[in-house]
Amino acid sequence: FFTLIFGLILFIILLAGMYFVFIFLTKQININLLYETFIANFTHELKSPLASIQLYLETMSRRKIDAKTQKEFLGRMLQDTQRLKRVIDAILDISQIEQRKKMFNRELVSVKDTFPQLIKSSQQQFKIPDENIRLKVECDGFVKIDRDAFQIVFSNLVDNAIKYSAGNLQIDIRIFKQGKNLIIEFSDHGIGIHKEDQKQIFQKFFRVSRSHLPDIRGTGLGLYHVREIIRGHEGKITVFSPGIGKGTTFTIALPLINIKDREPTFRLAKK
Ligand code: ADP
Repeated sequence: FFTLIFGLILFIILLAGMYFVFIFLTKQININLLYETFIANFTHELKSPLASIQLYLETMSRRKIDAKTQKEFLGRMLQDTQRLKRVIDAILDISQIEQRKKMFNRELVSVKDTFPQLIKSSQQQFKIPDENIRLKVECDGFVKIDRDAFQIVFSNLVDNAIKYSAGNLQIDIRIFKQGKNLIIEFSDHGIGIHKEDQKQIFQKFFRVSRSHLPDIRGTGLGLYHVREIIRGHEGKITVFSPGIGKGTTFTIALPLINIKDREPTFRLAKK
């Protein structure tokens, strides 16, 4: 009888062991797959602006071109350089955050003064016309944020809203108070995200498979970067999309600072 019980226990342990090895290997294979795809995407993100700059430079050095065309070429090269810098800066910033070397330079800011400015700069960065951004700020409170980091947050959200817009460039942003938190609701009316994919969207390197969609550039790092920044501010970000073709809403919750309780050394950051 004891041999039977012992055998059974051994069998269960063996099964559990096999299950864990299976889970571990599947995870490892998934991580390796994600990583390999990331390397391909990342290389493409570096190579394509570089190739474009090289082409403009070669054309300019070989052919005589008029001042207007020259100006246009320089403008395009500047755009490509900015694109390159953004990818490299993101990698460096993420690595700093992961190694816990990143110091968020947080200052006390007024929601009403700061957030419209941050959103405006992202809007200008991606050349979105005013009528495409509907912004409602319904909170008089204060939060403690690193402005540069939040600029990255909004730039990533705006960039994605355009990339995955499927032609509808409308963005709705609502900023309001809920309990002790500031809520930023960022909605687009683009391609939406399948329910299953919404669970993985903030994972490092994750990109939704888009075999049925035209090629959209990216590294799968943007939303991971955004989430790490929000976490560094004791906040939370979630995603909701009713489904494919029905748009996407990102919701950020950040702790509001009760200005009456603030430490005397706190100073309101200048704009
Ligand atoms: P990237 O855009 O470089 O692929 P992100 O981390 O920013 O990486 O986003 C991960 C994935 O989430 C994207 O590949 C895309 O499939 C999906 N996604 C992100 N934002 C949106 C959005 N606004 N609408 C639809 N899909 C989105």
